[in-house]
Amino acid sequence: MDIQKDRIVSFHYNVSEPGQATLESSRGGSPLVILYGRGNIIPGLEQGLLGHAAGESFEVTVPPDQAYGEFREGLTQRVPRKHFKGAKLAPGMQVVLPTRDGQRPMTVLKVGVSVVDVDLNHPMAGKTLSFAIEVLDVREATAEEKDHGHAHGDGGHQH
Ligand code: ZN
Repeated sequence: MDIQKDRIVSFHYNVSEPGQATLESSRGGSPLVILYGRGNIIPGLEQGLLGHAAGESFEVTVPPDQAYGEFREGLTQRVPRKHFKGAKLAPGMQVVLPTRDGQRPMTVLKVGVSVVDVDLNHPMAGKTLSFAIEVLDVREATAEEKDHGHAHGDGGHQH
């Protein structure tokens, strides 16, 4: 079965900038399980998976505008230190904080006594990303999964 809209796809991935060290990987843990074709992953990767089948391994290269967007200047914010709940902070470190738009990754720029300057660009903003994909399983989504817009079961949403 190949990857099409409204099928459930289970896959392992490694992501890096082309030719660089791995930034993030699902290998060694659980595969990613998604409802395909609903924007649950970045657009360039969704496009790159189309038509592939279980058992296939391949690479997908995604430019920034199809991944996490271009790096934007001026997305710096000053956050009271108490929001970090005593975490040890250093410039360059990536953290995730709750914001009005939900959990959001950010990069620590400067650590002060009572405030921390952060950059709100996604850590992978402005980067061309190379994904090494291994498709493990493809199946039809259930009516309930289509209705909810996400995968259920192992690796999916548990209600
Ligand atoms: Zn659900």
